[in-house]
Amino acid sequence: MILTLITKVFCAECGSVFGRKNWMISLGKRKFWQCNNLYRIKGQIGCLNNHIDEEILYENSWTTSRASI
Ligand SMILES: [Zn+2]
Repeated sequence: MILTLITKVFCAECGSVFGRKNWMISLGKRKFWQCNNLYRIKGQIGCLNNHIDEEILYENSWTTSRASI
């Protein structure tokens, strides 16, 4: 459910740009991307799209571009 365009990631659910976030975990930082529309209104979920781990995102975009050659 993710569309990638070089450096920008767009939400396939609502068309908003994904933002890069960090989570502090015991092993360090976990980087992930999340729809900017998710919590636009405080206390209300604006978009139901899930966040995606950066590693998975890069793996998927690499696989996709490779498959389209
Ligand atoms: Zn969204």
